[in-house]
Parts: sequence; structure tokens; C-alpha cells
Amino acid sequence: MTIAIMGAMQEEIEPLLEFFTDVIIEEYGANKYYKCRYNSHDIILAYSKIGKVFASLTATTMIEKFGAKKLLFSGVAGAISSDLKIGDLIVATKLCQHDLDITAFGHPSGYVPEGSIYVQSDSELLKLSRDVAKELGISLKEGIIATGDQFVADRKRKEWIESRFKADALEMEGASVGVVCQALGVPFFVLRAISDSADDDAGVDFDEFLKTSAKNSAEFLAKMLEKI
Ligand code: SAH
Repeated sequence: MTIAIMGAMQEEIEPLLEFFTDVIIEEYGANKYYKCRYNSHDIILAYSKIGKVFASLTATTMIEKFGAKKLLFSGVAGAISSDLKIGDLIVATKLCQHDLDITAFGHPSGYVPEGSIYVQSDSELLKLSRDVAKELGISLKEGIIATGDQFVADRKRKEWIESRFKADALEMEGASVGVVCQALGVPFFVLRAISDSADDDAGVDFDEFLKTSAKNSAEFLAKMLEKI
């Protein structure tokens, strides 16, 4: 089976690239795709670049061009829930797009045309993440992740996203990857480690904790991969 592993930034996939050997690079659609074998699976690995458009392009390419049958996303996010501290891991049970707004036509905030507000993650991959967390003795939060084309560094915006979507964390790619995977019938999973709290200090915290948090997420994902 071909398994896609995706991040948004180079720092998010670097620790995974170090994990694999005999990696071949193929360029497509102005991006680099890294191919290798692992545990009798073909792996296709890439970082999309930031935001929903690039994330959708990369997810679609991994599925349509490289034949991915499962997609696992690893990266960092801003915390909304006060349970989540920098470095903590969260897996999305479902995701939404907090910046998708056709409320002028009577639809609720985040409503996806001909769809719904939330896209659900794959239950088997969620179960696998629970098993891995238990085995490693790691606390792994499950919750709602909100996606939008904005780096949120503003308490008011964060509170609005929390109250509208009951979101626990926010980032800039997950829900768009989910919508692509759902449309193309590919089970997906989004894992994030907290890099900041989406508040006034978010920019400074993000720069300080990006690498260590990205590594936390990547290392957990690698453990899951051993069991797929
Ligand atoms: N420093 C980068 C921009 C980072 S954008 C540059 O200059 O190009 C933040 C990235 O981390 C996105 O991929 C997003 O998914 C995630 N992220 C982490 N904290 C976030 C926050 N507070 N708001 C939105 N996205 C966040």
C-alpha cells in the first residue's frame, strides 16, 4: 500500500526524512515529493507549503499521481484549549474551515458548499493513535481542529473560533486535506503538536518552538507508521 505523509513546512517533515533511508526525490507541480520503502509499504512524503491551496494541491497529487491509499499529516498548531501546552500532541477527530464564510446566504459559519461544516478523520487511524499513545505512556488529546488561511495571533479571533466551532486547536492546512481525502475516498489523519497559543505572543512562540514541536509530532507519527 502507498502511504502519504504530509507536513506544511520543511521543519515538519525533516525529522521524518531522517527516519527513512534510500529516499528518491521526484519533482511535480512546483514541489518535491520524497519516495521510499518502509515495512513493505511505499511511502510518499512531502511538505505542501503553507495554507489551504498548497495543502489541497499536495494531498491531491499524493493520491492521484502517487496512488496514496492513506494520508497522515504531521505538523504544529496554535492551542485554543487551555489543556494544551506547548509541545503537547492533539489528533483531530474532525476539522472545519473557520474562514469559509457564506453566511450572507443564510448558511452557518464554516459551511462547506454541498457538504457540512466538519470533515471526520478516519476512525481506524484514530484508534491506532490511541493504542500508540497508551503504549508510549504519552498523553494524546483528541479534539476539533479549525483550519484557515490566517496565522492567528489574536485573542478575540481565537475566542470566536472556539465559540463557533468548539475547536481545541487551529492551523492552516488540516481541513482542506480532509476535504480532499474525503472526496477521493482516502482515509486521513491529522496530528499536530502545539507551537503557540494563537495569542499576542504567538509569532514569537512559534519561531521558538516550531522545531521541537514539529519533532514531537513527527516522532509520534513514525511510531504509528511502524504499526500500519
Ligand atoms: N513563519 C512562517 C509562517 C508560519 S505560518 C513563514 O514566515 O513563512 C504557521 C504554520 O504553522 C502553518 O502551517 C499552520 O498550519 C501552523 N500554525 C501554528 N500556529 C498557528 C497559529 N497560531 N495560527 C495558524 N496556524 C498556525
